[in-house]
Amino acid sequence: MELTSISPFELVESLFEGVVVHSATTEIIYANPRALNILRLTENQVLNKDAYDPQWHFVSTKGNRLAFEDYPVSIVIRTKQSISNVEVGVCDSSSSDITWVLCNASPKFNQDGTIKFIIVSFIDITSTKVAVPFESIVANANDIIVITKADADDPQIVYVNHAFTKLTGYEPDEAIGKTPHFLQGTDTDKDTRSRIRDALRNDHDVREIIVNYSKTGVPYWLDMNIFPLKNSLGQIIYFAAVERDVTNEVTKVEKLTHLASQDPLTGLLNRRGFEQAVTNTFADGNFALHTLALIDIDHFKHINDTHGHDVGDIVLTQLANRLKKFFRDSDLICRYGGEEFIVLMQKTDINYNVGKFEQFRTAIEETSFSINKQLNLSITVSLGLTQIPISDIRLESHIKHADIALYQAKHGGRNRIQVYEV
Ligand code: GH3
Ligand code: MG
Ligand code: MG
Repeated sequence: MELTSISPFELVESLFEGVVVHSATTEIIYANPRALNILRLTENQVLNKDAYDPQWHFVSTKGNRLAFEDYPVSIVIRTKQSISNVEVGVCDSSSSDITWVLCNASPKFNQDGTIKFIIVSFIDITSTKVAVPFESIVANANDIIVITKADADDPQIVYVNHAFTKLTGYEPDEAIGKTPHFLQGTDTDKDTRSRIRDALRNDHDVREIIVNYSKTGVPYWLDMNIFPLKNSLGQIIYFAAVERDVTNEVTKVEKLTHLASQDPLTGLLNRRGFEQAVTNTFADGNFALHTLALIDIDHFKHINDTHGHDVGDIVLTQLANRLKKFFRDSDLICRYGGEEFIVLMQKTDINYNVGKFEQFRTAIEETSFSINKQLNLSITVSLGLTQIPISDIRLESHIKHADIALYQAKHGGRNRIQVYEV
């Protein structure tokens, strides 16, 4: 079959593109079936009608009704030039729906240079106009969105949204091509990192809370959800991370935990905080010898009875401050009860430790407490000491031993140290 056996008219009639031919006075002299279909009009409704017809009108991409002189056909008549890829919406009077078309229009001339007719062709782009703009949603989401290549060992970043730049301070071009490891730092938990890597190696979703660092080095906590993204063939090509800044929440929990482990009067560890701190010390594999001392103020009840409870509180606070000043940061200091304190010295040499506690006892005895302008108080303390053998982590029994020693110190006349003997 020869191509010439198909007439040009048949070709135009069967085109998927809409084609409309206007006369020089804008009258429609032809519309192919696809054009009628896109415009939702019948042949009778268009043929021999002006481009300007009250049955339908054009709107711009901004949604404004176009003036007649801005119709594609009017522009071609006025300029005698072709126009291409102009987006316009077509509204018919019977419905509020807009059909969006991408339109080309070109003039055909008579021999004398006047316009003979104008051919307008267009395709329907309505579906792309009304599709949900997911890209814009992702770009403007409040949560951070990071897309990386689907390589668990080298997940190079290919996309970051505005929220990412807002939180981290890194512009997209500073992040793209790098792996998210560049946001991690000293406080980023290694176990968390390897859990993420393992999940991604196995193409699993993973949710973790992790510390990252901004461009200026400020740490922040992210609650991140990472999941594989598949293409239409089901192959994993990207990982998407949706991340929320939970720094405030984490800090709040940390503060509460800290408060729960602190004695409000003295700021020292309370019993709960002390037990937790000891557990952490042993969890670190710190099985060196320690010395635990139970320190109790002598005749403290007498101070309360004579000077009042408030003065008693001041004495407790000042004693706490002296403990903090006297012992090292590595020693755990705790207000264990009313006027009882515990110091756990993390040092192997018991003789050195006993010497240190003896110095402390003497210092308390010799330096009075200045309560106010009128009142200086001298107090003494009694101490029960016990040695914690290597790897014996039964805190309760050590405290019991120290208490036995303390009882002996009190009975021995107070203001003295007693070391527990097995
Ligand atoms: P000892 O030498 O045998 O230790 O005599 P003590 O008077 O120090 O011992 P006791 O255990 O009889 O009394 C302790 C007192 O400590 C009783 C209690 O009212 C007081 N105390 C406990 N907690 C506080 C506190 O938070 N503030 C004040 N001001 N006093 C407290
Ligand atoms: Mg007591
Ligand atoms: Mg006492």
